[in-house]
Amino acid sequence: MRRPIVAGNWKMNKTPSQARALLEELKPLVADAPCDVVVAPPFVCLERAAQALAGSAIGLAAQNVHWEPSGAFTGEVSIEMLQDLGVRFVIIGHSERRQYFGESDETVNRRAKAVLAAGLTPIICVGEQLQERESGQTGAVVSRQVRGALAELSAAQVAGSIIAYEPVWAIGTGKVASTEQAQEVHALIRKLLGELYGAATADQVRIQYGGSMKPDNAAGLLAQPDIDGGLIGGASLKAADFAAICNAAR
Ligand code: PEP
Repeated sequence: MRRPIVAGNWKMNKTPSQARALLEELKPLVADAPCDVVVAPPFVCLERAAQALAGSAIGLAAQNVHWEPSGAFTGEVSIEMLQDLGVRFVIIGHSERRQYFGESDETVNRRAKAVLAAGLTPIICVGEQLQERESGQTGAVVSRQVRGALAELSAAQVAGSIIAYEPVWAIGTGKVASTEQAQEVHALIRKLLGELYGAATADQVRIQYGGSMKPDNAAGLLAQPDIDGGLIGGASLKAADFAAICNAAR
């Protein structure tokens, strides 16, 4: 049995003070959630968030990281810096990073390797754009992204990774994938993982759905056999909405 995991990607929202307030509101609401709960505030909020989360089961994630351990990379953040703050998860290859900041399958792979080598858990985002879906390329695009992200990783490393399937056309648009559309791609990803790393590994990998998941559509998506949680953008900025999604992960 894979334990569901629901993660909130706050993107470029919330100051450190606002982050603390949101987490104080969220903590009691997810205290009995039937899933792992993770939040990914902006870098500058991580220290305040870690303080607010002390003693709680909510895990802390970063929204990105550099693969080099240190050096002349102005504006970047290292894995060691994140670990020092108590970060355990890192979102990698979000479509906004791919679209606006030149992230490629190769840089996703470099980040994933470095994160896993350091003992953190990557949340690796994949997903097709609207025109790719409309031209029947969803399977090919997602397979290429999964293969690229996981290149040269061991089966054990893959088993400990999280993949987030996020159709780009559903992110922040209010257009959620139907339960059938989402399950179909999740099953395809798991089949590919089985071919590449064996059935036992494929069975262990948690695959989140992301893209306009809200309290009113979460239960249907989370009930699908290959959907093991969610990566939540907009709805993670409201404690009650995020908690409702976490509590729907039964
Ligand atoms: C995301 O950015 O990962 C996401 C899923 O956003 P939203 O829930 O707002 O569509």
